[in-house]
Amino acid sequence: MKMTTPPDSVPYFTPETISEALELINNKSNLSFISGATDVMVNRQQGNFESDGLVDLTNIIELTTSCPDGDEYKIGAAVKLSEIIANPYINEYFQVIVEAAKSVATPLIRNQATIGGNLLCENRCIFYNQSALWREAAGYCLKCGGDICIATGGKKSCLSKFVSDMAPALISLNAKVVMVDKDSESVIPLEYLYSGDGIKSKMIDRKSILKFILLPLNQHIKSTFKKLRQRKTLEFTSLTIASTLHINHCIKMALSGIAPNPIVVNTEKGIPFDAIYEEINRKAKIINNDFFDRQYRKTMLKTYLVESLTELNSL
Ligand SMILES: Cc1cc2nc3c(=O)[nH]c(=O)nc-3n(C[C@H](O)[C@H](O)[C@H](O)COP(=O)(O)OP(=O)(O)OC[C@H]3O[C@@H](n4cnc5c(N)ncnc54)[C@H](O)[C@@H]3O)c2cc1C
Ligand code: SF4
Repeated sequence: MKMTTPPDSVPYFTPETISEALELINNKSNLSFISGATDVMVNRQQGNFESDGLVDLTNIIELTTSCPDGDEYKIGAAVKLSEIIANPYINEYFQVIVEAAKSVATPLIRNQATIGGNLLCENRCIFYNQSALWREAAGYCLKCGGDICIATGGKKSCLSKFVSDMAPALISLNAKVVMVDKDSESVIPLEYLYSGDGIKSKMIDRKSILKFILLPLNQHIKSTFKKLRQRKTLEFTSLTIASTLHINHCIKMALSGIAPNPIVVNTEKGIPFDAIYEEINRKAKIINNDFFDRQYRKTMLKTYLVESLTELNSL
């Protein structure tokens, strides 16, 4: 394992096995895992990510490969989004994942960004993703140590947006994730990773490694993917919806950009639109913390829902 420390930087470790990575994170204080670092580095520059050292997971070979595995397809957490887009198997069987990956950031960022890092990227808010100087001038909000939410004026909860585009696509396909820490390895449905708390939005601590994403094979018929953003490149989501029709006629929908966690709805062909819309509306927490205002995002939510269900021949 190599360790380098450029000037004005923190120690940077490049373990080649999972056990080396776990040993490092557990034996040295306040280290963090990184993969592509496209999320971490921007947050770090803005003073929103503190760590005494970085443990790069991308040299661990088993995390960088994808292949069918029994009745599942296994994707390593450190597989890059550009590799997902170029993967013929994923293109043939999981088009919605390719569509989601193509919607993330820009080609240059996708050459570096990984699927695992995407599932664990930090929640966002226009009052939080600003320079340290900006936040000092505006006053710190709950997510950066202040005592009030600037977006709502409330003092109890942070409703920063969950912004991963890959998560809705994968959740709609019933993906599971393999997590490992020093004590155990577990397999859980992807949606269980998220807490719904805008300040600490993941259920896992920073000493766990996301190893693989597991997708059931031959279980779905068709998927759709919609994303609202300012421009058709670079921008984070203001609303993402992925919907999948499964062979048992169930429809699973997963949404990001409208709450601190992914919103998940299990429905089926023929259920009235109003019932589905009502359930999503009840779970969503759309506030004015995005480029688009709250009312516009609510309108687009309805529009995208109608389009998604129509494309799945469910309306
Ligand atoms: C300009 C710009 C535009 C962007 N646009 C989008 C967008 O449209 N949609 C979108 O979804 N994202 C977007 N992003 C965010 C980011 O680029 C992607 O989410 C990317 O996929 C993150 O992956 P990464 O490997 O770079 O993660 P990293 O930055 O390396 O890590 C992100 C988080 O995951 C943790 N982590 C990473 N890998 C693991 C692992 N295997 N196990 C445990 N913890 C891990 C890190 O500790 C960190 O907390 C954008 C970023 C930028 C800078
Ligand atoms: S939702 Fe409120 S508390 Fe959360 S990041 Fe935005 S302004 Fe801060």
